[in-house]
Amino acid sequence: MATADSKYEIIIGLEVHAQLNTESKIFCGCSTEYGAPPNSQVCPICLGMPGVLPVLNKRVVDYAMKMAFAVGAEIHRHSIFARKNYFYPDLPKGYQISQYEFPLSEGGSIKIETDGRTKKIGITRIHIEEDAGKSIHPEERDIDYTLVDFNRCGVPLIEIVSKPDMRSPQEAYAYLTKLKQILVYLEICTGDMEKGALRCDANVSVRLRGQKEFGVKTEVKNMNSFKGVEKALSYEIKRQMEIIESGGKVVQQTLLWDEHAGVSHIMRTKEESDDYRYFPEPDLMVLAITDDWKNSIRASLPELPDEKIERFVRQYNIPHYDASVLCNDKYTADYYERLASIYMDYKKASNWVMGEVFRELKEKRLSITDFPITPEMLAELLKMIDNKTISGSIGKEVFAEMVSTGNKASVIIKEKGLEQISDSGLIKKEIEAVIGENPDNLKKYLNGKEKLFGFFVGQVMKRTKGKANPQEVNKILKDKLDALKVSSK
Ligand SMILES: [Zn+2]
Repeated sequence: MATADSKYEIIIGLEVHAQLNTESKIFCGCSTEYGAPPNSQVCPICLGMPGVLPVLNKRVVDYAMKMAFAVGAEIHRHSIFARKNYFYPDLPKGYQISQYEFPLSEGGSIKIETDGRTKKIGITRIHIEEDAGKSIHPEERDIDYTLVDFNRCGVPLIEIVSKPDMRSPQEAYAYLTKLKQILVYLEICTGDMEKGALRCDANVSVRLRGQKEFGVKTEVKNMNSFKGVEKALSYEIKRQMEIIESGGKVVQQTLLWDEHAGVSHIMRTKEESDDYRYFPEPDLMVLAITDDWKNSIRASLPELPDEKIERFVRQYNIPHYDASVLCNDKYTADYYERLASIYMDYKKASNWVMGEVFRELKEKRLSITDFPITPEMLAELLKMIDNKTISGSIGKEVFAEMVSTGNKASVIIKEKGLEQISDSGLIKKEIEAVIGENPDNLKKYLNGKEKLFGFFVGQVMKRTKGKANPQEVNKILKDKLDALKVSSK
């Protein structure tokens, strides 16, 4: 629908739940570790037994404040926990402790980049809440029960609510990517969407261009990957446009995205907004944040992605593109910096990280933190290429060998006899052999077919198994052929 695309404006707002990676839960001492046997990390508090009281985990507030600072939000001196009442099998208390009218923070924004253009996406609020458990529905159809795992009950979350500032699924994707990047940089959330550490719901509507009021919005849930978010939103936008184009009306609904089928299903149609009967949580005090507390958190903030990119460009004099690729992930940035501290050709270092290192990581499905080649090992290899112990192309082979064996470059080069041949006497001998073996090509070359120069270089490299120093080969070969040219005239 090319016409509809330009006729309508897309409005997207995202609500993101991020699990905070504190060691213990938000209101009790139970472990938050992922993947433990079902119901092995529970206690009377997170199971909602009568007569127990929640005690707030201070670190949860520390982490939430870090995020608020990172997006430039205002942190309120006082915020209030509220009960959100609803019944669900994985919510043993029958309510979730969240924040409602008085959240931890409001305001702020996140800078995103799409198609080379930057844009700020506003943040409405960030509040603290507890996670619910997990219902496990057996896959077999004839089993008519559902199991519940309460391990996740009481795992701390922050909910980050954006303004309806995104105008395309691509912007939503970029926003989510940036949000994850910040969370990971802050080391407060793993950002792992597949494991549910980051979850996203979207509010979507379309309106005619130029129209002031928003169209009726729908909510899309159950998007379990970054790409899934982009696909689900594209699907929903198209669906809404088609309804309007055919004279219908979009109904306020909640839809569940089905990743496998690539379609969404209606979960419920809202007659009116949900009534959660929020009220202030009587078991918890007002959360009061002193200036000292705030200042100590502000002082503990690490360098964030945007700042790091700018510094990389400044400090290492590498292109903005390189800096943003390297800083995409904090640990890659750390790797590059360690490399750059011992190997001073910064651009070459960035080429190698973005090229060879990334290729090996992708092939071996490794993350940079598990990569067997340390920056020190890579620096040794690069220095051996620079001082011409080996050629650049052999260097790439050695690197692959380093990855598969875990050995140092110098060990591999010695073992395999890969040292570059720079001895001009040896190279001269090889050149003479090549020329002697190819009289026809030599004749053609001397008669003006200069393109054949590359052929001779290639033959010499072949005879030396790629070990001959290419600059030397070029130089000596040129001299030799020039001499032959003169003598043949
Ligand atoms: Zn517990």
